[in-house]
Amino acid sequence: MARMKLKKLVQETRRLCQPYCIIDGNRFRLKDVDPSDTHPLKPEDKEHAKETLAMGIEALAKLQDILYAQDSWAVLLIFQAMDAAGKDGAIKHVMSGINPQGCQVASFKAPSAEELDHDFLWRCQKSLPERGRIGIFNRSYYEEVLVVRVHPEFLAKQKLPPTLAGKKIWDHRFEDICAFERYLTRNGVAIRKFFLHVSQAEQKRRFLERLDTPEKNWKFSEADIAERQHWREYMVAYEEMIRATATPWAPWYVVPADHKWFTRAVVAGAVIDALASLDLEYPEVGKAKRAELAAARKALHASKDPPAR
Ligand code: ATP
Ligand code: MG
Repeated sequence: MARMKLKKLVQETRRLCQPYCIIDGNRFRLKDVDPSDTHPLKPEDKEHAKETLAMGIEALAKLQDILYAQDSWAVLLIFQAMDAAGKDGAIKHVMSGINPQGCQVASFKAPSAEELDHDFLWRCQKSLPERGRIGIFNRSYYEEVLVVRVHPEFLAKQKLPPTLAGKKIWDHRFEDICAFERYLTRNGVAIRKFFLHVSQAEQKRRFLERLDTPEKNWKFSEADIAERQHWREYMVAYEEMIRATATPWAPWYVVPADHKWFTRAVVAGAVIDALASLDLEYPEVGKAKRAELAAARKALHASKDPPAR
């Protein structure tokens, strides 16, 4: 992709995703984000958005190639959402053009006995991306201030000393998460966090679709229906989490998720923006290396291959 075309695409995608980017949580209110929003695009722009997404994916592949070659920055993308908000689909689409060698996805489910025997960041630290790579967390340590907050029985299982598991625990976790993300940023890990914000009505529609479509039956889980009963508690937990952990270096994108095509366009835009904001360059080839390449080229031209068999 030509540089000018890439520059224009970066500007366009930045405009699209900027309204959903939270870098200062103080004034954030979840009710200000409408899950069905598609601004500035309209439903009739859906096809155009899909074309732009395809171009965006090409741009992402180009930027990732440089990220990998430069081997200096790492990118960590964190996805959080209620069930059926489209996390898996967004990850699949946005990453579809990327070289699998430079990308790794980690999914975090309920912790194992071994994981419960450690501090809550332990299992996530083991899955952080190496330099030059894009790491995706499908759920993350943020579950520790979401599902664990909504269901106190999960906290009880963590075997924390009782003096450390009091009322202040959520504030302490927010503080520790912010410090951890600051630390990672200072070590060259660029962090972007996505909350795919689906409405309760759209979630219901998607659950019904899973029940009514044989190929989607496998996605249905009875436990997801039970979780719907805690919707309000989850929304309060999400809001407090974003208010406490949105920072300029590790922003939250609160992405409207009732229209999948729009969600994917915003996520792709934010990832492109993140990569474009790093000083990515192919490694410089020095004088000595250029001489080495010239000699190799000359030798290769002059060489006579022996018969293959
Ligand atoms: P999908 O349903 O699309 O396959 P998912 O991310 O919902 O993907 P599941 O296996 O259905 O995957 O759910 C994982 C569950 O693990 C979620 O309910 C989540 O809240 C829970 N979980 C993740 N981390 C923790 C944690 N630290 N403590 C307790 N539960 C957790
Ligand atoms: Mg699930």
